[in-house]
Amino acid sequence: MIPSAERQLLFLQQLQRLFDEGEFVATYKFALLMALAEISVESDHVDGKLEVPMIAIAEKFAELYWPQTVPYSSGTAGTATEILYQNQGKQTAVVNALLRLRQEGATTISEAKKYASWSTTLRTIARTVAEMPVKYLQNFGGTQIPFLYEYPNPSGKIVLNEGVALMLRTFHSFIQQLARAGWITHIRKNKRNSLILGQVDALESFMFETPRSCLTQVSELLRKIQSNKCFYCGSTLLNQADVDHFVPWSKYPRDLAHNFVLAHASCNRHKSDMLAAERHLDNWLERNLRYNMEMVYELTNFSSDLECSNRVAYWAYEQGINIGSHSWVDKQLTEPLSRHCLGLILSP
Ligand SMILES: [Zn+2]
Repeated sequence: MIPSAERQLLFLQQLQRLFDEGEFVATYKFALLMALAEISVESDHVDGKLEVPMIAIAEKFAELYWPQTVPYSSGTAGTATEILYQNQGKQTAVVNALLRLRQEGATTISEAKKYASWSTTLRTIARTVAEMPVKYLQNFGGTQIPFLYEYPNPSGKIVLNEGVALMLRTFHSFIQQLARAGWITHIRKNKRNSLILGQVDALESFMFETPRSCLTQVSELLRKIQSNKCFYCGSTLLNQADVDHFVPWSKYPRDLAHNFVLAHASCNRHKSDMLAAERHLDNWLERNLRYNMEMVYELTNFSSDLECSNRVAYWAYEQGINIGSHSWVDKQLTEPLSRHCLGLILSP
C-alpha cells in the first residue's frame, strides 16, 4: 500500500531532521542511508515491511567505501597523499577491514569478493554496522525516533517499517544527493584531512565515481557485442565512443555491468539524463538476455546481476511514468513514457 501524502511528508521532514541534527561522528550514517535506499530499489518485494540482513548492508558498505581505501592525491604541491579519515579518531573499522583485502592483493571490489577472507570481512563490517550506525542513525539528541526501522533491531538484520522501503525507492535520488553532500562535507570538515585535501579538491569524483580506466574494458566488449554500431542510432561508431549508462547515472549512480551501452558521443549528449525510449529499452533487454554470459564473465570489475539490473530499470521507468517524464528517442526527439515499458521489463 502506498503511504499517504501526510506520511510521506513526515518521512521527508524526519530525514531532513536527521541530516540537520543527527550527530555524525563518522561517515557511517551516510553510508547506511545510501545502503538502505539502494537495497530498497534493488529488492523485488517492497510492499509492507522489508527485512534487510545485516550482511546485505555490509556488502553495500564494502562497495561504498572501497574506492575510498586508496590514498587520495590532490595533485597540488604541499599536500600529503594519504587515505582519507572517515572520523575524528583513528581510521574506521570498515576502512581497516577493506584495507586488509587490499593488502592481500585485491585491487577491485569484484576481485575482493572472490577472496577467501571476503566473508570474514563482511561479518566484521556487519558487526560494526550493527554496533554503530544502526544504533545511532535514528538518534536525535539522545532519543531514538525509529521512523525507518524497529530499534532495538532483531539480531542479524533490520526490519524497515511498513512503507519505508517504498518511500526510500521513491526518494532514492534525493537521499543519495543529501547523503553524498553530507559525506563530502564531513570529510572536508575533518581537520585530519586538511593536509591531504589542500585548498581545491576533486573529492566527489574520487569518492563516488568509477575510475575512467575501468571503462576501457567495457568499451572493448561492447564494441564487439554491438558490432561496432551505436547502441541508440545503429550507425557505425568512430574510434571515439562513449560508454553510456542506460539508466542514467544521475538517476542511479551505481555501475552495473548490464547497464552499460556504447554510443556516439553526440547520441550520449542528446540523451543526457533522460530515460531511453521504449524501442531502446526493448533492445537493451534483448541484448542483456543474449549477451548475459559475456557480460558476466568479461566485465569483472562491475556487479553483473541481470535481475538486479532489471529491477533497477523497473524502478527508474516506474518513477518516470509516475511523474510524467518524457523519454529520449533520438537527437531532439522525445516521447511520453508509457506504462507498457514496465511490462517489457517484467516479461523478458
Ligand atoms: Zn548514435
